[in-house]
Amino acid sequence: MFKGTRKNNKRLTMKTSTLLENALANFNCTAKVLEKDYGKELIDVLRLPKEKSEIRISPLLKDGKLRVIKSFIVKHSNSIGPCKGGIRMSPHVTLDDVTALSMEMTWKCALIGVPFGGGKSGIVCDPGTLAPIDKEVVIRSFARNAHSHIHPLVYVPAPDMGTNEKDMGYIKDAISYSMGMATTQGCYVTGKPVILGGIPGRREATGRGVAISVQEALKMLGMEPKDARVIVQGAGNVGSVAAVELARMGCRIVGISDISVAVYNGKGIDMNGLSDHLKKNGSLSGFKNGRMISGSDLLEAPCDVLVPAASGGQITRANAGKIKARIIAEGANGPTTHEADSILAGKKILVIPDILCNAGGVFVSYLEYTQETQQEQMTGAEVSDRLSKRMKEKFNNVHCCSLERNISMRDAAMFIAVKAVCDANVARGFQP
Ligand code: NAD
Repeated sequence: MFKGTRKNNKRLTMKTSTLLENALANFNCTAKVLEKDYGKELIDVLRLPKEKSEIRISPLLKDGKLRVIKSFIVKHSNSIGPCKGGIRMSPHVTLDDVTALSMEMTWKCALIGVPFGGGKSGIVCDPGTLAPIDKEVVIRSFARNAHSHIHPLVYVPAPDMGTNEKDMGYIKDAISYSMGMATTQGCYVTGKPVILGGIPGRREATGRGVAISVQEALKMLGMEPKDARVIVQGAGNVGSVAAVELARMGCRIVGISDISVAVYNGKGIDMNGLSDHLKKNGSLSGFKNGRMISGSDLLEAPCDVLVPAASGGQITRANAGKIKARIIAEGANGPTTHEADSILAGKKILVIPDILCNAGGVFVSYLEYTQETQQEQMTGAEVSDRLSKRMKEKFNNVHCCSLERNISMRDAAMFIAVKAVCDANVARGFQP
């Protein structure tokens, strides 16, 4: 933690989402340090997104009724390259959330070293209540209405909470169809099915990156994977893959949850049973290999590694003091509030910050982007090898910076990332 910056960071008075409040609080800590070199004006430019759009879509669903749905696209920064960031589909997503997530994408891309800026989309709709055909209609309607924002050199979306590989395939189809072509010229969306120009390993990339980060953190603390008990919150794309990968590395998965159920089993969850259950049912509901506890109790249950891989704002001032893990690996975006961060630091819990820990997804999206742009093909083994090398290299860079500057891993990651974006702005110059 930068000395004197976090505790002096006054509570933000404006009404914001927890995600935005945290994103700004994290940024402000780093901003105070970088302001001296880059000037307050440039730092102020980076505090706000470049562009926010609210797009109303009105698809006709299979019940024969028009549904009016709000959606958002926020482009935070394109200094390093086209804006990159997933599409979140949730009844609770707000413009402030999307703003925060787009800002985090700017830092994540800069930190992991891919030539993208930060963007994000939100569709205010509950995917869980939509029949598959209705979800496809909503996604296609979003793609058609947001078409002017989506372009390989402007904004390239990907999956996030509530959207998946299939949806990205529909977006590619909707865009190529509207152009009257068999395919698109260049990469308009990443995280697509492999048969449509996707890349092997993209779906697993974020969860794998989380597992590699945990492996590096265990090494740093002198712990063996076989001695590490792991709890994962969220059994979706990121959480389920992280759990499987960590188990494969030798860790014992003692707890897992989703929105419906939380299971704790101190002896270790049967991972084959878990994978089969998720494949068959699509959720944890009905999975009985352990003791059922509440989702909030699971976060405080005994473990060495806690992987929040669901929504933001899960580790707060109220529960941070009760967390028993030695390592928190942020698979989710913004799972830890700013106040909780200080409590965790006091307890000497190592937090692997989201912009590092879950950056494997955007790194492999970059491989997909280059593959499609250059009309090449990469094998799963090449992707996996490059992902592993990049995650380890960046983990090490952040760790070294945190030691050199005597700051937390989050502040070190933010320092490297925000500095890179400042450098890009200076290099481009400030004339129109
Ligand atoms: P997903 O929709 O596939 O899965 C989300 C999971 O979280 C589901 O199992 C859901 O039931 C569970 N969940 C939601 N609220 C919960 C709660 N309160 N308690 C317990 N479980 C809960 O989403 P995902 O793609 O796995 O994304 C998860 C997180 O990772 C999000 O914060 C997302 O922004 C972040 N992320 C995703 C990617 C990616 O490539 N998909 C990349 C970077 C970051």
